[in-house]
Amino acid sequence: MKNKIGIFPGSFDPITSGHRHIIEKASKLVDVLIVGIGDNSSKKSFYSLEKREDWVKNTFKNYDNILVKKYNGLTINFAEKENAKFIFRGLRSSIDYEYEKQIAETNSVLNKEIETIFLLSDKKYGMISSSIVRDILKNNGDIRDFVPKEVKIS
Ligand code: ADP
Repeated sequence: MKNKIGIFPGSFDPITSGHRHIIEKASKLVDVLIVGIGDNSSKKSFYSLEKREDWVKNTFKNYDNILVKKYNGLTINFAEKENAKFIFRGLRSSIDYEYEKQIAETNSVLNKEIETIFLLSDKKYGMISSSIVRDILKNNGDIRDFVPKEVKIS
C-alpha cells in the first residue's frame, strides 16, 4: 500500500495552539504527517532549534502518524526528500492567504507534483501567532491559553 505523506512546515517559534489545531486536522488527511521545523538562516529565530523541536515533539508524542523533523534549505526540497505529495499550510486571514499563495505558486513551479493544501483556522485560534506569544512573554504575561501545555518556558 502506498503511504500518503504530507508535510507541515513552519518556524514554530514557539508552537502555538493554532499550529496544533491545524496539524491535528492535517494528520487526519494523510497516512503520515511530517512536521518540518525550519532552520532558516535568513529568519533569525527567538528560540533555539532544539527547544522548538522539543516542544513540537512533546506536543505530538502520543500521535501515531505525526513525525517531527528539522530541515534547512527550501521547503520543496524537504518535501521531495520525504517523498511527500502534500504541503499543508494554515490560513488565519486574507493576509495569510496573499502571502501563502505566492509561496505555493512558487513551489508549484519548482515541483508541480507536490500540492499545497490550505486549511482554515477555527475562529478561536485565528488571532494566535508565535509573535503575539513572544510579545506576551517579553512582558511577563500568561501564555497558557495560547500554547500547548508541553511548551515550558524556563
Ligand atoms: P512560517 O515562518 O513558515 O510562517 P509559522 O510557524 O509562523 O511558520 O507558521 C506555520 C504555518 O502555521 C503557516 O501556514 C501559518 O499560516 C500557520 N499558522 C500559524 N498560526 C496559526 C493559527 N493560529 N491558526 C492557523 N494556522 C496558523
